[in-house]
Amino acid sequence: MNKVIIVRYCEIHLKGKNRSYFERLLIENIERNLKDIPHTFSKLNARYLIGDYDQADAERIFDKLNKICGIHSYSESFVVDTSLENISQAVLSLAKDVSGTFKIDTNRADKTFCLNSVEVSREMGGVVLDNYPNLKVDVVSPENVIYVDIREGGKTLVFSKIFHGLGGLPTSSSGRGMLMLSGGIDSPVAGYMMAKRGMKLDAVHFHSYPYTSVAAREKVEELAGRVAEYCNGIDLYIVRFTEIQEAIHENCPEELMITLMRRFMMRIAERLALKHGGQAIITGESLGQVASQTIESITSSNSVVKMPVLRPLIAFDKLDIIEIANKIDTFNTSILPYEDCCTVFLPKFPAIKPRLETVLKAEARLNVEELIENALNTVEVVRF
Ligand code: ATP
Ligand code: MG
Repeated sequence: MNKVIIVRYCEIHLKGKNRSYFERLLIENIERNLKDIPHTFSKLNARYLIGDYDQADAERIFDKLNKICGIHSYSESFVVDTSLENISQAVLSLAKDVSGTFKIDTNRADKTFCLNSVEVSREMGGVVLDNYPNLKVDVVSPENVIYVDIREGGKTLVFSKIFHGLGGLPTSSSGRGMLMLSGGIDSPVAGYMMAKRGMKLDAVHFHSYPYTSVAAREKVEELAGRVAEYCNGIDLYIVRFTEIQEAIHENCPEELMITLMRRFMMRIAERLALKHGGQAIITGESLGQVASQTIESITSSNSVVKMPVLRPLIAFDKLDIIEIANKIDTFNTSILPYEDCCTVFLPKFPAIKPRLETVLKAEARLNVEELIENALNTVEVVRF
């Protein structure tokens, strides 16, 4: 018996033109991810069928599907030429792995088929019980469901497991964002959240070599690689921040270090985004999590850019963020103990509620434009 993988997509309520746009992107994304695995691809109403793959590749295909944004769920299914005989065979094949209670759930799109859906379910239920008398039918809350989908055109799909996909929207359907990626727990998760909403990502990382190590940078590259799997790749821009940090350290009050750094980071992120087609900046900030994430600090850093700054984690508790970091497998890398540029020259008592006036006064001692230009001249790009 042949097998196919049925892929269902999300946000079915998408209408008209939008829908074909989203579908086109999703199909492209699936095909791009499966390009190294021999298979065929076809459309079936609001679903896609992946067929003619080697059974040994099935797990690999599932792993890929698990990381494609916009997929609601998928199932591996038998596909047979429609006949009661063939359907019974497929149903029995699945029933041998069932224990406890079950029901058959039939959908009959092919109205020419000799039995209606209730009759097919009853017939197949009988076949299962004849062969596996220990099983019990429970139509209200069964432990197992075997689905029979009789399609127009002479094929029937028979499957029992529905795996959940990521949900969200297909990559590149919601514009392009510049993720400010530190080596911490939060920013990779923030990037993933926006990728899930269909945003294509670039990323920027600021390092303060030699105050920060090569290992710290490699850690960030590893994180970028992980997030890149959810959005068809990331271009990571690595910016040397050392001179800016030194200039702030030498010229400005110590307690404003982080506030001033953030303003530089934001400006540079915006310039890079503009240069590479980005429409928004993304950060991993969460309100009140640390001193630099008060509403006053956010106001101060926000005020230097025009682009929208997206903060998908703003209302998240740390534990909820960690749960997602584990799910996307970035947590264990994020907690590696390498210093971030924010921890170099860290003030003992950072300003928790910096007043914008005070910040502007301190910043006036710096040649902001020249520092930004110099930093931009150090940009290296790593592609994932
Ligand atoms: P994270 O876990 O993402 O590091 P955090 O809780 O440590 O966040 P901060 O260090 O205050 O918070 O950073 C807030 C946000 O600023 C980060 O989520 C990230 O988006 C950005 N950011 C901080 N440091 C850097 C850096 N070195 N390079 C790029 N972005 C950074
Ligand atoms: Mg951090």
